[in-house]
Amino acid sequence: MRITPRQSKIPVGISQCAMGDPVRYNGGHKHSKVCTQLLSQCFEYVPLCPEVAIGLGIPRKPIHLLVDKAGEPVDAVRVVGVEDASVDVTAPLRDYADSVVPQLERVRGYILMQNSPSCGLRGVRRYLDNGHGIDSEGVGLFALRLRHHFPHLPMEEVGRLNNSELRENFLTRVFAYDAWFRYVEGEEGNVIWSESERMPSRIARIIDFYTAYKYLLLAHNQEATRELGRVLADSKSMSEDALALAVRGRIMQILSRPASRKDRTNALMHSQGHLKAFLDRREKAELQQLIEEYRLGRKPLSAVLTLLRHYLPRSPNGFIHSQVLLAAEPAELGLCDFH
Ligand code: SF4
Repeated sequence: MRITPRQSKIPVGISQCAMGDPVRYNGGHKHSKVCTQLLSQCFEYVPLCPEVAIGLGIPRKPIHLLVDKAGEPVDAVRVVGVEDASVDVTAPLRDYADSVVPQLERVRGYILMQNSPSCGLRGVRRYLDNGHGIDSEGVGLFALRLRHHFPHLPMEEVGRLNNSELRENFLTRVFAYDAWFRYVEGEEGNVIWSESERMPSRIARIIDFYTAYKYLLLAHNQEATRELGRVLADSKSMSEDALALAVRGRIMQILSRPASRKDRTNALMHSQGHLKAFLDRREKAELQQLIEEYRLGRKPLSAVLTLLRHYLPRSPNGFIHSQVLLAAEPAELGLCDFH
């Protein structure tokens, strides 16, 4: 089994101001070139501005998160006017977020504007009703409802995508989440089954998916990957739907931790192990040396992957051919700076 790359752009939600649209409270925007010029090569955006959508207008009076005291849970907030706390838009914002759920069923990632009482994903400033800032533990209400409705959906803040490592991690998660729906849930867009092949059962597809992602998951978190393997070994104790949800959640959780050089080296060594029998002594030594140089930070990951892929056709082993770790995305799209 091989998870094929998508032939079309992946639908991804985005805070509308990041697209350069003047929808902010002050009539401005927060255009992100990383989003509109780089990531747009593989994303088809679904831009939404929750505050405009609930009728606050442009320009509008600013709003912020209000709590009764420090340490309140993230969902114990109200969203009110900065100047006039009697202007309470908590219910309209929540209702709007709930109303767009059907529209967002098709998105495979969401990019949110940081520090916003509506869209901020983490660390949003919270205030007491006397106007004093009390902490930065808030999450924008729209983002919070998104997380509630789509607990495994890859989300990231616009500003953090300027960092190549975080960008690569977001892409990896979006690609995985999208591949899950195409492969496991049988959505359109996967071309792995030719006319002569029959689609495997859903349980078989879940196991196939884990198998194809195994080395990539190992590169992110070895212990959690082994634990997931144990969950799958015990799959008969769960219903099919419960198993699918558990496996998808664990996979997205594992991928949310950026891959370390040490764990990546380990996954590369495993890959090398599958090819050793097909290499002569000089080739083996060269590959071994390259992996070691990567481990020491002297060579880029792309150099090792290129050589592994060069030797891949020699092996008849379906497992190693299926490995997403060795596939050509997203680094080859030029969107990530693997190091
Ligand atoms: S952060 Fe969200 S609510 Fe604020 S302007 Fe941007 S899209 Fe609209």
